[in-house]
Amino acid sequence: MSKKDYYEILNVSKDASSDEIKAAYRKLVKKWHPDLHTKDKKIAEEKFKEIREAYEVLSDPQKRAQYDRFGYVGQQVGSQGGWSTTQQGNPFDQGPFGGFEDLFETFFGQSPRSSSRTSAKSRAVKGEDIYVTVRIETKDVLHGVEKEIEYTRYEVCEACHGTGAKNGTAFKTCPKCNGTGVIRQQQRTFFGVMTTQSTCDMCGGSGKIISEKCPVCGGRGLVTKKKKIKLRIPPGVEDGGRMRVPNGGHAGKNGGPYGDLFVVIRVKEIKGLKRDGQNVYSEVTIDFVQAALGTTVEIDGLEGPEVKVIPAGTQPGTIFKLKGKGFPSIRNRSRGDHIVKVNVEIPRSLTKEQEEILRKYAETTHSTVNTKHRGFFRR
Ligand SMILES: [Zn+2]
Ligand SMILES: [Zn+2]
Repeated sequence: MSKKDYYEILNVSKDASSDEIKAAYRKLVKKWHPDLHTKDKKIAEEKFKEIREAYEVLSDPQKRAQYDRFGYVGQQVGSQGGWSTTQQGNPFDQGPFGGFEDLFETFFGQSPRSSSRTSAKSRAVKGEDIYVTVRIETKDVLHGVEKEIEYTRYEVCEACHGTGAKNGTAFKTCPKCNGTGVIRQQQRTFFGVMTTQSTCDMCGGSGKIISEKCPVCGGRGLVTKKKKIKLRIPPGVEDGGRMRVPNGGHAGKNGGPYGDLFVVIRVKEIKGLKRDGQNVYSEVTIDFVQAALGTTVEIDGLEGPEVKVIPAGTQPGTIFKLKGKGFPSIRNRSRGDHIVKVNVEIPRSLTKEQEEILRKYAETTHSTVNTKHRGFFRR
């Protein structure tokens, strides 16, 4: 268990941001790359290992929090690291900077390029992200809601701290590479004898193999765990919106950080209400007499029925706003409007009495109406 001051190693303050930590790490790694220190290689290697270990912890919010609280991280990081410093003698070595690329890929994102020098098995790889869907009601969008989310993920096995070895200690030297982590092969070629080397496939370059598998995880270092979290969904969230829970995903490989959990929010629609940003749209239908004389209507709003007075002489297609009756903004909680379009319905048939009244009405406005072919123009 390491009790080193990782902040001191990376020369950053205790409240350094992740970008500051990354920058400090890049700088130090360049300075202490073992291939640049041919004379005091051993010292550089030690230093290099330390820097890497510090970065692995401080770059992972979960591990960093653990380190801040307890002064160490339970899971020994870097112990299975695949960094190989034994590259001399390789005619295809890319010079003093060979290996840089791979190193950065390991920590700053994955690359599809898999080099023979660093086996995928030994890299610290971030765990996979998990997506879960949560369904909420429209009213939950107004006030926010707390939801319990249950899902299954891979976690680092506590029994072996992710090493896969029983009691976390039972390692033995890899018999295939004798603990060097690399396999050397001599080849007779056109140019003479050439030595090539590759990462040992048996130990993944760590030089150690598990002699007794952890009984809890069967040597995988990971266990399946049911996870239950409470998530506060803020007001204003939109259908299809995503919330990220850092480190809520699957455990990483070889001490890599946890992936993230993404919670996809689906909002159940209310029939007849259409959302567009913070505004909500609906329609109300009245008949032509109501439009002419004015009326009172009940509108299905987000928070139940809203009563609205329709003034006399309202035209078809008139739009009115119920101010502040829309959805809240996810940023500042200010609410949008409920926008209502008025449809005016013309009766498709009239009773004798209604027709007479309308004819009388027509006389008052001097309108010309059909007398003989009543109904001819009806749709
Ligand atoms: Zn285990
Ligand atoms: Zn080996």
